[in-house]
Amino acid sequence: MAQIKQQNVEDYYEIGEVLGSGHFGQVRAVLERASGVRWAGKFLKLRRSASSRLGLERKSVEREVEILQSLQHANVMALRDVFESRAEVVLIVELISGGELFDFIAEKESLSEEEAIEFLKQILKGVGFMHTKNIAHFDLKPENIMLADKMMPHPHIKIIDFGLAHRLKQGEEYRSLSGTPQYIAPEVINYEPLSEAADMWSIGVITYILERMTANECLVHPWIKPLTRKQAANRSRSSINMKSFKKFNAKRKWKMSFNMVWACNRLFRLQLQCKSRSQEDPELRQCESDQEDTETKPASLIRRRLSSSS
Ligand code: ATP
Repeated sequence: MAQIKQQNVEDYYEIGEVLGSGHFGQVRAVLERASGVRWAGKFLKLRRSASSRLGLERKSVEREVEILQSLQHANVMALRDVFESRAEVVLIVELISGGELFDFIAEKESLSEEEAIEFLKQILKGVGFMHTKNIAHFDLKPENIMLADKMMPHPHIKIIDFGLAHRLKQGEEYRSLSGTPQYIAPEVINYEPLSEAADMWSIGVITYILERMTANECLVHPWIKPLTRKQAANRSRSSINMKSFKKFNAKRKWKMSFNMVWACNRLFRLQLQCKSRSQEDPELRQCESDQEDTETKPASLIRRRLSSSS
């Protein structure tokens, strides 16, 4: 059970400027009165009643707090304290002053492979730690990857926003449709049971944005062209995960057949509709082909969107 203090946050912290905002509240700089140390306060509005659509349910806030309380890692935003009033919960967390990783990169003239790998390593260390605790973040995206302090000679990654994170339990299925479209895994879109692997999809997208190689660069990458004997030996020993590949391929085929049957049924129904309408009104016979065109276009679009998500 998450530990939340039923005290006034302002008795302990002086509230300062707004640092950022999200769907359910603001993040502000706060100053601890006793020590003079600066922290950040995440102010989350609570839902007033079960029927209200504004604010967060208390149990979602409790889940975020419980998860943050169990995650102490150099690459994960640390939680210090939690206060609750009638209308909101305030999470006192470490102040992360370096801004978003991608903004930092965008300000640079260039980004070397080595630097990109170093960032990715730190992201993987933070995410790997969560996964050893059976916690999945489920909202990994550039906005949630920040830098502790951009003035540091070696930038230090901090993963933030555990609002969608979930502790996965053995034998319990967890499904969710939440997340950010550009970064969510296909199993989220398909509303299938989720695992930590969904985070790896998001990391893949982030990596792709950081290291988007050209085809020629790919051809000389050590994965394709080993540089040393050791790399070559490692490569010949490792193999593709055929179990998940076969599962993926079977699902893809099934979806194609389903879409085909669905499209045939729809065309058949349209034809029947057109026939019966043209029998009622002979003038309609002329626009039969137009009718079919406009009716089938959205269907093919939907199909494309469905299949592109797998
Ligand atoms: P979302 O709507 O994306 O779920 P949220 O309400 O959960 O967001 P966060 O993403 O945690 O809120 O924070 C919102 C913004 O506040 C962040 O994008 C970031 O700019 C800033 N922020 C969050 N945590 C910190 C921190 N510890 N230190 C400094 N700024 C922060």
